[in-house]
Amino acid sequence: MTFFDIFQQHEWETTQASIYAKTAADVERTLAKQGKRDLEDFKALISPAAQPYLEQMAVLSRQLTQKRFGKTLQLYIPLYLSNECTNSCVYCGFRHENETTRITLNEAQTLREATVIQQMGFEHLLLVTGEHPRQNGPDYLKKMLKLLRPMFAQISLEVAPMKTEEYQSLVDEGAYAVYVYQETYNAGRYAGYHPRGKKANMQFRLETGDRCGEAGMRKIGLGCLLGLEDWRTDSFFTALHLNYLEKRWWQSRFSVSFPRIRPFEGSFEPNSIVTDADLLQLICAYRIFNEEVEIALSTRERPAFRDNLVQLGVTTMSAGSRTDPGGYTENNKELEQFAISDDRDPETFTTMVRSKGYEVVWKDWDMCLQTR
Ligand code: SF4
Repeated sequence: MTFFDIFQQHEWETTQASIYAKTAADVERTLAKQGKRDLEDFKALISPAAQPYLEQMAVLSRQLTQKRFGKTLQLYIPLYLSNECTNSCVYCGFRHENETTRITLNEAQTLREATVIQQMGFEHLLLVTGEHPRQNGPDYLKKMLKLLRPMFAQISLEVAPMKTEEYQSLVDEGAYAVYVYQETYNAGRYAGYHPRGKKANMQFRLETGDRCGEAGMRKIGLGCLLGLEDWRTDSFFTALHLNYLEKRWWQSRFSVSFPRIRPFEGSFEPNSIVTDADLLQLICAYRIFNEEVEIALSTRERPAFRDNLVQLGVTTMSAGSRTDPGGYTENNKELEQFAISDDRDPETFTTMVRSKGYEVVWKDWDMCLQTR
């Protein structure tokens, strides 16, 4: 059994209708509940009926986050290795059809980027590539892990979905986590966003978390691209996915992220607008639903919004990010995957975090306990 079997038991329209049918009484019952909340509770928390309870949700989210994670914020930084991609995602500046300069960093270029990042103080590195099996597939990534492993405490990957044995080989080279976003769980619309390339295979992507778990990946990151489809319904399916994976692959840890569509080279307009209040509601809903899950927020979001969320449920943030390959040593703005909103340097960002009474964590605290 994989997540695909669970997924097939849930229909998009019925799920959406059941979220929008939740009432104030459902929300109040969920907020008053002691102990673990279930997926029906999650529906109530993300429903329109929960909007008037946002303040109460934020207070509870903060309490639960501090109970589990203390007053800490983990930091990571992305290193874009390659913008080569054989897929055609209609919302992405790296898509195959876009006539942009294509770059895959070689070892010398990667080392130069990594040295700059290391000097900023980061110990948790996220390697990001497009999805091009020949240019930036498992063999390339193994080479990069070998090169970078001595320089960083944790290296995570946001790369093309792979087979189990390929993930196993990356775990053996020191890969710590894999983040694979489903983009949308709307099966009727998925093909329209992903018309060509390997990513057009929705089932293969849906089963990625299972393959990561089977390969022994220490952390698995989930999410959907907010703005493609109704955010409430897509978020329910993400929570369903998380719930399933946590039970099935209990040895791994889990993380959720909230990418909102940002401007890029091209003309894609979001179908569904996700406001700041919506995103706050969603983050608080996740925390109330799941006290253990790590919640990550990138520099796509504006500084003032990120500053507020430090205390309201988020546990992990990036800072000082560049989204173009080679961007830490050269200015390649035209190669960016998306424009970042928070361009503060790490020092300014960490000063802000500390001013709120929070401690900055540069690497996961329990890595010394990992034996594999
Ligand atoms: S979202 Fe990823 S897979 Fe799709 S075009 Fe962009 S880089 Fe390629």
